[in-house]
Amino acid sequence: MYILARSLKEATEFLFAASERVIILAGGTDLMVFNRDLIAQAEPRKNPILDISRVAEMRNIRLENHQLAIGSVVTYRDVLLSRPVQRYGLALVEASQRTGSTQIRNVGTLGGNVVNASPAGDALTALIALNGEVEIVYGQEYYRQNIETFLKGPKKTGLPENHLVTRLLVPIYQGYVGSSFYKLVNRASSQHGLAISVVSAAAVVRLSKDKSHIERARLVLGAVAPTPVRARQSEEILQERPISRDLIKEAALAAVQVIAPIDDIRATATYRREVVPAIVENVLNHAIRKATRSS
Ligand SMILES: Cc1cc2nc3c(=O)[nH]c(=O)nc-3n(C[C@H](O)[C@H](O)[C@H](O)COP(=O)(O)OP(=O)(O)OC[C@H]3O[C@@H](n4cnc5c(N)ncnc54)[C@H](O)[C@@H]3O)c2cc1C
Repeated sequence: MYILARSLKEATEFLFAASERVIILAGGTDLMVFNRDLIAQAEPRKNPILDISRVAEMRNIRLENHQLAIGSVVTYRDVLLSRPVQRYGLALVEASQRTGSTQIRNVGTLGGNVVNASPAGDALTALIALNGEVEIVYGQEYYRQNIETFLKGPKKTGLPENHLVTRLLVPIYQGYVGSSFYKLVNRASSQHGLAISVVSAAAVVRLSKDKSHIERARLVLGAVAPTPVRARQSEEILQERPISRDLIKEAALAAVQVIAPIDDIRATATYRREVVPAIVENVLNHAIRKATRSS
């Protein structure tokens, strides 16, 4: 059974009433690739598919209560065209620019990237750095969870069956704040514009009023552990010390301690460990530069 939801109410009522697991379909760019068997089960007997891609209420980006409220079926293309995200969530814009091809960016959604929970999810990595939350609904009950704790492992989240992610919420901070995202890909696959990250990093920094030091930093690494990971020790190193090349280098080297990379078709664990400091340095320098020019 295939159902095209026309409104959030229709989607939530259907999910609440369902007695079996409903397959929620947004852009389908992950679902179609990894769950072909599950989709096949939808016909003729079980696992209805609920298509939420046309729910207009879930496809807008708003500024409200000091946060960016991004509907879960907002696509990468929508992000690239959004002024509020450009202003307050540049790391997410940069991650969206580097995601897939034009076709993928036209239909792939942020909600899908978060729920898919890939260790190499680019928007996901940026959203954790931006301290994002997911808003979830079941029946009439809405609740929120920090994205970092929402993730449970590779392709695993804490989302209970038939609960729907409605929005992604990103807090907005005033002052000298900057963010950045960087992803390293294999040269061969990047030629096709469809490369999955070998290593990625996202950083958000808030500078002091005189811009001499970092008051707060968040640094997240992707594709180097079962989920994107916070480099907390690096964040601590960066805080409240004068910004210098040595400070950035020290924080970048410390980031290697949180990673647990594996060998896969894209790169070896050793290679990933070796490139992490350079990538972190790059992303931190970009975020600091942007913070210096912000406010
Ligand atoms: C060729 C190609 C290139 C790609 N390149 C990249 C890349 O560079 N970087 C990257 O990070 N990813 C990449 N991807 C992966 C994919 O495009 C993204 O993860 C995309 O954001 C998934 O969104 P979607 O809307 O297509 O999700 P879907 O496939 O529709 O759904 C993914 C999962 O999330 C669930 N889901 C979706 N929305 C909700 C919701 N609102 N509530 C509850 N559950 C929900 C679905 O049930 C499913 O389990 C690529 C994929 C392809 C095929």
